[in-house]
Amino acid sequence: MALQPGEGSAPAAGPLVDTFGRIADDLRVSVTDKCNFRCTYCMPAEGLPWLPKDEVLRFEEITRLAGIFVGLGVKEIKLTGGEPTVRRELPKLVGMLRQAHPDLAMSMTTNGYLLDRLAGPLAEAGLDRVTVSCDSLMRHRFAEMTRRDALDQVLAGLRAAEEAGLTPIKLNCVVIAGTNQDEVVDLARFARESGYEVRFIEYMPLDAEQHWERAKVVPSAEILETIDQVFPLIADGDGSEPATTFRFADGEHGAIGVIASVTEPFCDTCNRLRITADGQMRACLFAMQEADLRTPLRDGTPDEGIVRIIRDAVWAKWEGHKINHPDFRRPERSMSMIGG
Ligand code: SAM
Repeated sequence: MALQPGEGSAPAAGPLVDTFGRIADDLRVSVTDKCNFRCTYCMPAEGLPWLPKDEVLRFEEITRLAGIFVGLGVKEIKLTGGEPTVRRELPKLVGMLRQAHPDLAMSMTTNGYLLDRLAGPLAEAGLDRVTVSCDSLMRHRFAEMTRRDALDQVLAGLRAAEEAGLTPIKLNCVVIAGTNQDEVVDLARFARESGYEVRFIEYMPLDAEQHWERAKVVPSAEILETIDQVFPLIADGDGSEPATTFRFADGEHGAIGVIASVTEPFCDTCNRLRITADGQMRACLFAMQEADLRTPLRDGTPDEGIVRIIRDAVWAKWEGHKINHPDFRRPERSMSMIGG
C-alpha cells in the first residue's frame, strides 16, 4: 500500500524525495517580501506589513542554506521576492553564492524595474539569467495592472539584461480574463521579435486582497489556441519544467510557455521548494505547513540537524494542492510573501 505523506521516515541519504517519489531539486529563495510594484493580482495598493528586518535571512544565512540544499541535490537556485532587486547589495549575495558554487544554475525572477542599473553588476557577480514579469505591452494597461507607470523602464531593463548576457530571457505574463486576455497574440508577436520565451501564467488564488475568482482564470489551452491560429505552434520542452513550451512552426525565434497551475495542475512532476524571506521552507506554493529553518540557522544547530528538518519536511509533502477540489483552502501567505 502507498505511504501517506510523512509516513515512515525520510531517507537519510540520497536526493530530497517525498513519499510520492518526487525529487525536489529546484529551489526558489525569496530575498525580501518588499516590492516596488503593487500588481493588482498580488498586493494591495498600500503594500503589506513588511517583515521586521531581523526576521529576514542575512546573506550569510542564505549562503549557508544554499550550500546545504546543493549538498542535498538541488541543481538550480532562483532568487525571487517580493522584488529581489530592492534588497540592498543583491549583487553581493549573488557573488557569495557564485563563489561557493561555481557550477550552480542561478537565475532571478524580477519585475525588471531596476535592471537598467543592476543587470551589469548582477551578471558580473555571477547571475546566469533573468525572468522578467510583464503583463502588458500597453502603457496604460501596464500601469493599471502594476499600479506603476513603468513599462518603458521595464523595457529598458530587458535591454540591459540582454546586453549584460543574462540570457536566455523569459517573460512572465499573468493573464486575467477581461483585463489583458486580448493581448496574448501581441505578446506572442513580441516573443518572435525579441527571441524571448513568453510564458503565460494562469491567475492563481494567491492575491493578498482575495479578489481571485475562477471566472478570471484564462485556461492555458485557450491561450494556446488563440496564438496557434495566428502563429502556429509546435510542442517543445522536456517536461521537467512547470511551463509547457512551444516553438513557432515557421522557425521564427522566441518561444511560448504556459503555466497551467489552475486548469492542469502539474503537482505530480513538481520538483520545487521555496524558502521565504524569513527562512521558512515550503514544499508547495499552496502549502499550509512550513518548516522553520531560520531558528535552527540561528541557534547553533549544525548542518546535519538542518538537513534532517529539510528531509522530513520534503517527505511530508502532500500529493497536490487540490485547487480544483471543494475542500481547497488558500494559504495564509499571499504570493509576494511566499516568493513566486
Ligand atoms: N517581483 C518579482 C516579479 O515580479 O517577477 C518576483 C516575485 S513575483 C511574486 C513572481 C511571479 O508571480 C510574477 O511573475 C508574478 O506575476 C506572479 N504572480 C503574482 N501573483 C500571482 C497570482 N495571483 N497568480 C499568478 N501569478 C502571480
